[in-house]
Amino acid sequence: MLANTAYLWAMRMEDTICALSTAPGQGAIALIRVSGPQTKAVINKVFRPRSARHELEKARAYQNLVGYLLRDKEIIDEVVVAWYQGPQSYTGEDVAEIACHGSPYVTEQILRSLLAAGARLADPGEYTLRAYINGKMDLSQAEAVADLIAAENQAAHKVAMQQLRGGISAEIRQLREELINFVALIELELDFSEEDVEFADRAALESLLARIEEVLRHLLDSYSTGNAIKNGVPVAIVGAPNAGKSTLLNALLNEEKAIVTEVAGTTRDAIEDEITLDGIRYRFIDTAGIRETEDQVEKIGIQRTFEKIALSDVVLFLFDAYAARLPERQALLAEEIALLRQHTEGKTLLILGNKTDRLEAEGLAPWQPPGEAVVWVSAQPKKGLEALREKLQEKYRWQDLAAQQSIVTSARHVNALEQSLADIQKVKEGLAAGLSGDLLSLDIREALQHLGSIIGEVDVDKDILGAIFGKFCIGK
Ligand code: GDP
Repeated sequence: MLANTAYLWAMRMEDTICALSTAPGQGAIALIRVSGPQTKAVINKVFRPRSARHELEKARAYQNLVGYLLRDKEIIDEVVVAWYQGPQSYTGEDVAEIACHGSPYVTEQILRSLLAAGARLADPGEYTLRAYINGKMDLSQAEAVADLIAAENQAAHKVAMQQLRGGISAEIRQLREELINFVALIELELDFSEEDVEFADRAALESLLARIEEVLRHLLDSYSTGNAIKNGVPVAIVGAPNAGKSTLLNALLNEEKAIVTEVAGTTRDAIEDEITLDGIRYRFIDTAGIRETEDQVEKIGIQRTFEKIALSDVVLFLFDAYAARLPERQALLAEEIALLRQHTEGKTLLILGNKTDRLEAEGLAPWQPPGEAVVWVSAQPKKGLEALREKLQEKYRWQDLAAQQSIVTSARHVNALEQSLADIQKVKEGLAAGLSGDLLSLDIREALQHLGSIIGEVDVDKDILGAIFGKFCIGK
């Protein structure tokens, strides 16, 4: 496993690395992590134990040592050194974690002392990269570490934890192993080609392929939710000028602001056009454009609108339900909705009838566009917003999905899954067409390669590793 990649990194792996692992700035304590083959030697140069009981030489694995951290023989801080004897550590190497006082001056002095003692500063993500190279976690789990650190809400946290604990890897690994057994059997047949034997049960292979296909499809389907959790859902609000788009948006945003402020005592001033419902961020894209539409052509067929729609996953089409009491408006609206349907294939289109308060005031029943379900709202006074929020969330209910299966959140995984699916289909076709064992095994090997790239069980391109680990913060 990983032979070539490991070789490429081997020289860097000989280094002993150090970095501040807690957030920079002042804090009660800070944590500096040292990892690598020379950890013991480096720590011995900079650490003076408080008593013989705290000497590193005598330390058991996982022992905490108390003492003084020195730079040029001068005491910088009183520290606790947690000693992790490799391979029982995060990176799989000897690791020491120095807990010191959280002063930027102190941490800098300690780092300088460690550098003088022979360590070098770690690259972003280098600890996790080492954990991966040393087989402490697979690639998909390593990516989950970055996701976990970046998780800002319950949904993102949940899927990152699921992946960290092996969610998608476990499924892929098991299917891959079953497939490896088949390829081994088929290749064994080749050795006995003169005798015309079949070790690999073709019917069993067929049913395995069907199972793999199903799992891959489910995983791929989960990406719409996974992506929503990780990156938010882009939402476009479109509709004629004066339909009430800005008013509705402000109503949604203001309520959200009020709720968030009340609950967490935080302010969301920095995040303007975004609401979070059940752990998913809904981002209203290009909303400045909506505010500008007043003086633009009334028909929705304007270029800007379509561009906005192309960028979104959910489209809210808002019409003035009061204006729609007039038959000439109704014909136009029906036309607009039909046009929108054509441009929102694969997206969620919600039709919202606004200004219901004006209809109610006159005792009028709303006009319903034929064949369309409408969410009736009033942006001002606020009415029906709860139903709208419910509708928004419908497609992104992640709890049920998360309970059933792993959720894919990474575009890299989607790519590998799609390629695997295409490979599997090719194998299926080959099997149906009675393809010879040698060709069949080639196709299966390709599928194994793509499946393996998800968990990093095949040689992964160094550029890909660079892209994955480069996104980490230093010290992780
Ligand atoms: P936009 O051009 O689609 O962004 O529309 P605006 O949000 O600027 O609203 C146009 C006008 O309709 C404003 O005067 C709003 O106050 C008014 N308006 C918006 N929503 C409602 C509503 O639900 N009921 C009533 N009565 N007026 C509304």
